[in-house]
Amino acid sequence: TVDLDEIRKTFGGSEVLKGVSLQIADGEFLSLVGPSGCGKSTLLRILAGLETQTSGRVCIGGACVDGRRAADRDLAMVFQSYALYPHLTVAGNIAVPLTMRRLSVAQRLPLVGRFLPGARARRAAIAQTVHETAEILEIRHLLARKPGQLSGGQRQRVALGRALVREPAAFLLDEPLSNLDAKMRVHMRAEIAQLNRRLGATFVYVTHDQAEAMTMSDRIAVMMEGEILQVGAPAELYDHPAELRVAQFIGSPA
Ligand code: ATP
Ligand code: MG
Repeated sequence: TVDLDEIRKTFGGSEVLKGVSLQIADGEFLSLVGPSGCGKSTLLRILAGLETQTSGRVCIGGACVDGRRAADRDLAMVFQSYALYPHLTVAGNIAVPLTMRRLSVAQRLPLVGRFLPGARARRAAIAQTVHETAEILEIRHLLARKPGQLSGGQRQRVALGRALVREPAAFLLDEPLSNLDAKMRVHMRAEIAQLNRRLGATFVYVTHDQAEAMTMSDRIAVMMEGEILQVGAPAELYDHPAELRVAQFIGSPA
């Protein structure tokens, strides 16, 4: 489980998170929705360890992870901008988290590392993982290309692939589809939802598109002005909004 407890965050005197508490079960697909500027990305970045909360606690799998670096949390984050390396191929981009692990060993043994007998086997294992991941995302035929030669949807899959190879307990996705056209968005929604079921991993999915959240989620958390107004299954929010602002955002009949 992911457990956020009374998270507060202040930027230069203004409080953008006002004591947010949220529990997310293992394997759950939770969407975090709300208008621009309500604090969705900030909350996700705090969960990922890319930002430090002013107060409150973050626990993952029962362990408090405050003070733990992003790399030491069992999470993978996918950004809206994809953040691919333009000079690397698709295969190279997907392999980055795997080769970084290898590099850290080599750095400890600067000269010896590269001649270790295991190096060749490790390279083969990485290639194998990259191929299997590309298979899942249906981008095997693109492995030799550079990001500049891909469509937005294909780039999105590469970014997902790079998150997948880390085999995290939870995926954090921050508006991953906002750069795509409407048709590709619908397609990728289905793919991401399928990935959640297939991997059994936890997904926290930030979007300001309520239709997207309604179709993909086990539960939705509606956020406004630094607070979570209501958390519940899509039908629950639609049929029984806790307040007018939730009804307006979800689009329930008045
Ligand atoms: P959007 O849907 O537009 O992405 P969001 O819900 O993700 O919005 P955040 O990016 O979390 O919103 O920002 C919440 C508030 O915190 C905004 O008012 C924003 O201006 C402010 N904010 C975010 N990051 C910083 C920062 N590094 N320094 C100062 N203020 C910040
Ligand atoms: Mg944001």
